[in-house]
Amino acid sequence: MPKKIENVGCPYCGVCCDDLVVTVSDDGRHVLEVENACAIGNEIFHHASGDNRIKLPRLRQPDGTYKDISYDEAVDYAAKVLVKAKKPLIYGFGSTNCEGMAAAAKVAEKAGAVLDNCASICHGSSFLAIFDNGYPSCTLGETKNRADVIVYWGSNPAHAHPRHMSRYSIFPRGFFTGKGHKGRKIIVIDPRYTDTARVADIYVQVKQGQDYDLFNAFRTVIHGEDIPDEVAGVKKEQILEVADILKKARFGTIFYGMGLCHSDGRNHNVDIAISMTRDLNDFTKWTIMAMRGHYNIAGPGVVWAWTTGYPYCIDMSKKDHAYMNPGETSSIDLAMRDEVDAFFNIGTDAGAHFPIEAVKHLKKHPWITIDPNICMASEIADLHIPVGIVGVEVPGIVYRMDNVPIQYRQVLNPPEGVISDEELFERIHQRICEIEAEEGITQ
Ligand code: SF4
Repeated sequence: MPKKIENVGCPYCGVCCDDLVVTVSDDGRHVLEVENACAIGNEIFHHASGDNRIKLPRLRQPDGTYKDISYDEAVDYAAKVLVKAKKPLIYGFGSTNCEGMAAAAKVAEKAGAVLDNCASICHGSSFLAIFDNGYPSCTLGETKNRADVIVYWGSNPAHAHPRHMSRYSIFPRGFFTGKGHKGRKIIVIDPRYTDTARVADIYVQVKQGQDYDLFNAFRTVIHGEDIPDEVAGVKKEQILEVADILKKARFGTIFYGMGLCHSDGRNHNVDIAISMTRDLNDFTKWTIMAMRGHYNIAGPGVVWAWTTGYPYCIDMSKKDHAYMNPGETSSIDLAMRDEVDAFFNIGTDAGAHFPIEAVKHLKKHPWITIDPNICMASEIADLHIPVGIVGVEVPGIVYRMDNVPIQYRQVLNPPEGVISDEELFERIHQRICEIEAEEGITQ
């Protein structure tokens, strides 16, 4: 008899939908149906029960082929790489649970590694701005229940966070937002007329790379001063119209994405967005939120801030203290300067998403990929260690884009013998301790 499992969390994007209903086969090995998920979430669950999963670690041979090895051998190989390296880099973590992140932090500390996560190439600029200027944010529940004005600035949830608009921002009827979409004003600011812009009441076409100027214009108008006839490609009349809506909102939320973090200005774009949010709070209630990408990319920021004091780019190579300085200790910068001598790719695909020059430098040294799937990072690795898929085969805590923790469930058993990220890092830690004892290495 197939079994229906309710309240399942989706391990894909930062919306962290936790209302999925998954039907699994009688033997508990296959996903038959997924209800409530978007197309991306649906695919994750069906992919998990596909026949092409890797079930054993694979070690690259001198002739370039892979040979299956045991988990004990893989753990031994990984531990020896870390003991030998002077400055290993352990990077990724967008797609694993907080338990795995905590275990990896223990390994990084023991090995004197640099510990970094995908924020480094994503919302890291948000962290820099938040350090400077604070974070007047809220939870997604507050937006759903209170917000009558929503701004999507440089973000396109229709494609990147498909259920964000229906669960939290535009369509749901909340406690004080009983009219749903009809009671809300939606403003989209983007150089492109995206599918999200199609849903908007007002579309503002900013010139690419000139968001900072437009924020400046809004802040000037909000403070009652005059501006030129056109700023960043936007007519003065439209800036005045939008500024008026922002000031008259009952409760507003600005959701921003890579349009600010990846364009000219980067952290300064976010910095001024936060300043504008603060300005608006002189008149009414405004909040701002980063559209975090992966389902648990907020997790390392929380877990590692508890354990090391820093959210990302954490250099522990001096062994007696942790140090963070993005630009110096961030993964791409370290790779481009060829400063690391071993690379661990975990819960991400640096092979696909790092600049090719960074990949070429990292490839000069041992490269270990820890991932359930075959991906570019596994195909160029010296060692590929498969692990269970969090949210499908491995339960655990994840942090949603608004830093709300959610307990994810397990719906399938992992392929026989396949272990979790947490168990893998615990075993690597244990093996490093044994090697150090055998070799008489003291910290
Ligand atoms: S919106 Fe995101 S979290 Fe929700 S089902 Fe789609 S991919 Fe999964």
